[in-house]
This record gives sequence, structure tokens and C-alpha cells, in this order.
Amino acid sequence: MERELLRSEKLKVIGRLSAGFAHEIRNPLTTIHGFMQLFKESPDAGGVSSYHYQIIISEIERVNSIVEDLLTIARPDKTEDKDYINVNEILAHTIYLFQTRADHSSISMEQELDAELPQVYGEDKKLRQVFMNLIKNALEAVEQNGYIYVETKSRSDFSRQGVAIRIIDDGCGMDAETLDKLGSPFYTTKADGTGLGLMTCFQIIEEAGGSMDVSSEEGSGSEFDIWLPVE
Ligand code: ADP
Ligand code: MG
Repeated sequence: MERELLRSEKLKVIGRLSAGFAHEIRNPLTTIHGFMQLFKESPDAGGVSSYHYQIIISEIERVNSIVEDLLTIARPDKTEDKDYINVNEILAHTIYLFQTRADHSSISMEQELDAELPQVYGEDKKLRQVFMNLIKNALEAVEQNGYIYVETKSRSDFSRQGVAIRIIDDGCGMDAETLDKLGSPFYTTKADGTGLGLMTCFQIIEEAGGSMDVSSEEGSGSEFDIWLPVE
């Protein structure tokens, strides 16, 4: 009986995920299809500009990022992909990748990384994806003129050794509804969002035996507190 219930619950979740996935993929595909139809009907039309191509490229990138996030969720943890990883190094590199974009929007990114931070056992690629998603969200929340602060500290939790990572921004913050829905698949408040970033983050951190707490105030900013165990 209990097993049956679990099974139907699971099917419901899969159903909801698939419906959302189909919807999210169909939107960009419709745009791409429309442009292609236009090009086909008037192959040498003067109206086709690099602007149109740029839209097509970003729509394809959008499909790709949706698929990428879903694959991460679907792919189970593989022991052979795990190793001892340096969280500071991954964070510093992620910040470096976003530096130009931050400079363009006058957003200062500061980091205070604990030099004595122990290594974490996990999947390098997945942890990179967590920090990419969080820092990208922070940049999108700040938009212009503000800061993002990243901190790491060695911290024990219930006598288990671990590392604490804080990502703080002074961006738009979140209202109660958004905070409540955080991590639900396809929940987004952005016109061009996928609503998959945070779900992926929660999943990866949980799989690693860690936790993520979020606090935020609308209009003031947000704070993401991650804890990862050290084996
Ligand atoms: P997406 O970025 O595609 O919208 P996410 O799962 O990454 O999807 O985020 C879901 C929603 O959570 C966002 O649309 C936004 O409303 C909110 N959010 C996430 N991070 C922040 C942040 N740092 N500041 C304010 N809101 C945020
Ligand atoms: Mg996001």
C-alpha cells in the first residue's frame, strides 16, 4: 500500500517535471522555427540581420542550458567522478569567469576565502555548477551598481567537520512567496529564466550530504549559506 502510494507520488512528480520541461523547451523552439520559416520563404531578403541570428543563437543556448540542468538532476552520483576538491579554487575561478560581466554593470565582487579550508570530497563539475548558478543569480538580482560577497570558513556542524560558504548580494531580494517556492522546478520570476538553477543547487548539495539555507529581504538583498561535510 505504502509502496503503491510512493509510486503514484513519484509518477506525479515525473509528470509535472515533464510538462514543465516540454513547455520550457517548446518556447525557444517555436521562436527558432518561426525565424527559419521566414528565412526559407525569403532566402535573400534584406530584412534578415545579425539581430535575428543573435536571437536564434540565444534561444538555442537556452534550450541547451535547460537540458544541461535536467541532465545534472537526472544523473546519479558516480563514485568514479568524485575526488578531493578545493572549494576556494572553484569559487575564485567562478568569480573570475563572471568578472567582465560584473565590471560592465559596476558590480564589485569581493571574496574572503579561508586559506586553511579543508578539502571536500565530491564531484568537481557539480560543485562548479552550484557556484555558477548562485553567482549568476546574484548578478541578475543586483543588475547594476552593487556588490556580491563570497566567504568560506572551516566550520563544524554537530561535531562533523565541514566547510561553510556564504554568498551575499545587495540585489532585489525576494518576497515571501518566492522564498517559499525556492527550489521548485521551473519557478522563476525572470522573463528569460528557466527556474531550474536553484533546484539543481539544492539537489547537488543534498547529494553531497550538505545543506543550503536562504535568507532574503525584498529590496535589500539575499544570503545563501551552504554547508558541506568534510569526509
Ligand atoms: P532562474 O534564475 O532561471 O529564474 P533559479 O532557480 O536560479 O531560476 O532561481 C529561481 C528564482 O529565485 C529567480 O527567478 C528569482 O526570483 C529567485 N532568486 C534566486 N536567487 C536570487 C537572488 N540572489 N536574489 C533575488 N532573487 C533570487
Ligand atoms: Mg538562475
